[in-house]
Amino acid sequence: MFDKILIANRGEIALRILRAAKELGIATVAVHSTADADAMHVKLADESVCIGPAPARDSYLNIPSLLSACEITGADAVHPGYGFLSENARFAEILEEHNITFIGPKSEHIRLMGDKIEAKATAKKLGIPCVPGSDGPVRSEKEALKVAEKIGFPVLVKASAGGGGRGMKVARDAHDLGIALATARTEAKSAFGDDTVYLEKYLEKPRHIEVQIFGDGKGQAIHLGERDCSLQRRHQKIWEESPSPALNDAQRMAIGEICAQAMRELQYSGAGTIEFLYENGEFYFIEMNTRIQVEHPVTEAITGVDLVSEQIRVAGGSPLSMRQEDIWFYGHAIECRVNAEHHATFRPSPGRIAYYHPPGGVGVRVDSAVYQGYAIPPNYDSLIGKLIVHGRNRTEALMRLRRSLDEFIVDGIDTTLPLFRTLVRNADVQNGIYDIHWLEHFLATGG
Ligand code: ADP
Repeated sequence: MFDKILIANRGEIALRILRAAKELGIATVAVHSTADADAMHVKLADESVCIGPAPARDSYLNIPSLLSACEITGADAVHPGYGFLSENARFAEILEEHNITFIGPKSEHIRLMGDKIEAKATAKKLGIPCVPGSDGPVRSEKEALKVAEKIGFPVLVKASAGGGGRGMKVARDAHDLGIALATARTEAKSAFGDDTVYLEKYLEKPRHIEVQIFGDGKGQAIHLGERDCSLQRRHQKIWEESPSPALNDAQRMAIGEICAQAMRELQYSGAGTIEFLYENGEFYFIEMNTRIQVEHPVTEAITGVDLVSEQIRVAGGSPLSMRQEDIWFYGHAIECRVNAEHHATFRPSPGRIAYYHPPGGVGVRVDSAVYQGYAIPPNYDSLIGKLIVHGRNRTEALMRLRRSLDEFIVDGIDTTLPLFRTLVRNADVQNGIYDIHWLEHFLATGG
């Protein structure tokens, strides 16, 4: 096992990793930008290193600085968290070249899944159901039209290098297609430096359902059920739950087993998520994330498995601590992502937290790195905490969510807590009847 882990991240996930490392008896190194000198993960780590100024490209994305921090502190492993360098295959390779373990999958798998066209072709080969579309990149309008006529309008033009919902454009007919193609290309070029795009059937009312998998890198792999992340704003998830209100046990185990089997064949190592759109009883692969995800705690709540601890153990060469038959799903869990944003305008609201009181009690978990008096810097994403509730069933989880949202106090800044207080009382949400467009529609019609 490792002696010292460097945590190449910030915010709640840095603290989450720190907690797992401490439980395993591994020393921790926090890295931080000048803007994050007062951050909680810095205070709680055994050692800390300032790696640069506030802009992420000069600090959390600065590979030479991170390498120096490893060298100075003698860290023998790096946990990248999510975002930042977590899906950067080159970073993983550079660490390995310096005899530092990257706590994540093999770099070849990160690279493979980072290119959506390659990822889709691989998924198809591994027997994972995919959205009908072009078999590879589309280079011209003529080619796009041919594919679109075959799969039928509406279609979605997607960037192969895409992420965060950027570089995606819907075309409803042949006339739209040319414009969609050009704008998706331009957006992809400026966001990712790569204008390769492909075509997919646009699904009108799908749910977003993803499967958590875990592999040992040697051909053993399991699944830990699914998460339903259909409540999204601008393609960003804000509410996640497990199990999905839309699936029964047989469907859950069937899609889980397809994913686990695919990961065995791939000899995938560590945590990963296979994302699907789900419509009319069918699953359609959209992408795979080769990292721990923001919403992992809902899976932890219903399985009792510490996914981050497992990541560290497997990266250290240990076998999986459980077999598929050891995984039991108990009850229902829901996570709300609390952002430092106005609940209606979504205007970011950095600044000092004047008063902070997180909820507690049975079945309530808060993963957050903020504290009373802490000033949220304006430089990073606005996630300030995740509220996760667990109950014996969905009704109990919702009751618990309602009361813990009412208990949660964050004064001095705007947060999205009021939005969640409305959502938890909404009939569609209570009944679990929502698709990926539900929230946008709800917000557009005044809530
Ligand atoms: P990104 O990596 O940018 O997040 P994804 O492929 O995961 O891109 O898609 C992001 C979101 O876009 C999905 O969660 C879904 O809401 C929507 N989406 C993606 N593909 C389709 C599709 N074929 N039809 C309808 N919506 C889609």
